[in-house]
Amino acid sequence: MPATILDGNKIAAEIRAEAAEAVKSMAAAGVRPGLAVVLVGNNPASEIYVRGKVKSCEEVGIYSEKHTPDEDVTTQELLALVHDLNRRNEIDGILVQLPLPPQVDSKKILLAVDPAKDVDGFHPMNVGFLSTQRPGLVPCTPAGIMEMLQRSGIKIAEQEAVVVGRSDIVGKPMAMLLLNSNATVTVCHSKTRDLPGVCRRADILVAAIGRAGMVTRDFVRPGATVIDVGMNRVTNPAEFRRLFAGNAKREETFRKNGSVLVGDVHPEVAEVAGAITPVPGGVGPLTIAMLMSNTVKAAKMRRGSRVAELSRA
Ligand code: NDP
Repeated sequence: MPATILDGNKIAAEIRAEAAEAVKSMAAAGVRPGLAVVLVGNNPASEIYVRGKVKSCEEVGIYSEKHTPDEDVTTQELLALVHDLNRRNEIDGILVQLPLPPQVDSKKILLAVDPAKDVDGFHPMNVGFLSTQRPGLVPCTPAGIMEMLQRSGIKIAEQEAVVVGRSDIVGKPMAMLLLNSNATVTVCHSKTRDLPGVCRRADILVAAIGRAGMVTRDFVRPGATVIDVGMNRVTNPAEFRRLFAGNAKREETFRKNGSVLVGDVHPEVAEVAGAITPVPGGVGPLTIAMLMSNTVKAAKMRRGSRVAELSRA
């Protein structure tokens, strides 16, 4: 039986609608959540991501502003900008779009963001809150995956979960969230022995690797839930054929654009998995929706007493 497709667009729309509802009720208390996005230079992929984030803010009713320092900005200049955003009360969330140019000390910049405004959840203080199960801001992609699992009625507690990838942005926080929800978690990486064998143990398999279609059917226990975080652009015709031979729709896209977007999971996995996220339309839309939700959460946590006070008045 083919896998149930977990529709990221649908769940993202629900999350955005909930964020919009919260923004409306905060407006009644005179508070409008605000997000500042810092985009350095002209990286085309980053520009697309930032455009999507700003557009989503408009839809949800969150105030947003974009700062675009030049490519040759120094660490000191960027620190000054972050400190200024930290000080401004109407800014609840600060997002520094990565990657930053090589002359900038990225770690220093991310450390300078006020943890209460760190809507990406990358600051070590928020990482600590997550690992000690305290309220804080959680990285958007893994937080979105948890929403998808929960809202799709997929059991997490007592399940075997395998996360492939150990990045600070996806793999590690994903593993921590699953552990906090009582799954038995294994984290794999490039030095893992017998990766397919370890992955086959999973009831929930999360692939966050960055390698097109690497997870093939022999990685997947029949009926498992497979979450594909990968976003890889395939331009090589032989690689395209390995993944999509016989798929008329994808062949048409490849002919037209010279490339297709593919996850870390081979499409053949849909024949054995119980449920699977598509690429595109799976995890991607959830990441931006969770940024909206995190900005609302940051505003509530930081200005919560004012919201409560004004609603009482
Ligand atoms: P990183 O490159 O930071 O991490 C990749 C991880 O995969 C590393 O831990 C690495 O292991 C592991 N890995 C690489 N090759 C192998 C292999 N052959 N076998 C086993 N493990 C391997 O990537 P990110 O975590 O930032 O992103 C992962 C993917 O998710 C990318 O495709 C990215 O584009 C996508 N992504 C998608 C998002 C979305 O919204 N949909 C958001 C963020 C990312 P090691 O540590 O040993 O090097």
